Amino acid sequence: MIFLDTTKAKTSASDYTEIDLTISLDSAESQHGQINFSSQLKLTGNLINEKGLIILNGLIEGQGEITCGSCLEFFKFPVKAEIMEIYYSQLSIGSQPNEEWVYYKGNTIDITSEVKKAVLLSLPMKIICKDDCKGLCSGCGHNLNLGKCSCNIEDIDIRLAVLKKLLD
Ligand SMILES: [Zn+2]
Ligand SMILES: [Zn+2]
Repeated sequence: MIFLDTTKAKTSASDYTEIDLTISLDSAESQHGQINFSSQLKLTGNLINEKGLIILNGLIEGQGEITCGSCLEFFKFPVKAEIMEIYYSQLSIGSQPNEEWVYYKGNTIDITSEVKKAVLLSLPMKIICKDDCKGLCSGCGHNLNLGKCSCNIEDIDIRLAVLKKLLD
């Protein structure tokens, strides 16, 4: 769980509080599979108190681990996600809350699910471990980043044989 203390934001005369937090997330479920966070993430940004609404603007940075979409190996990738959320409590609204606002009670806000959501939104459409990831052999499933497999050699042999035939 990641908690934000809003006490300062609520009492500060400037209504603007800097935040610089180390946050712990264990894992998150993405469309590309599970992301693990073996090290802590950093959240920097600010809180604005707008007539009782707490507006969070920040940047989440760190490192995650995810499965490569091409070779299926687990690899580390840099996390860089923007977060923008509006939190409301019973006291901060005169009328109906906007449906995108998140409800909170007391002086702390649990931002765990919004942090996860921001990280998931920051992921690219296709996740690969490196630009030149060779992926898996469609024949035997061998990870071609680790070297050639025997299917490959056969393919080359066939091509060579065809070429030889043409030359003959
Ligand atoms: Zn890969
Ligand atoms: Zn193969």
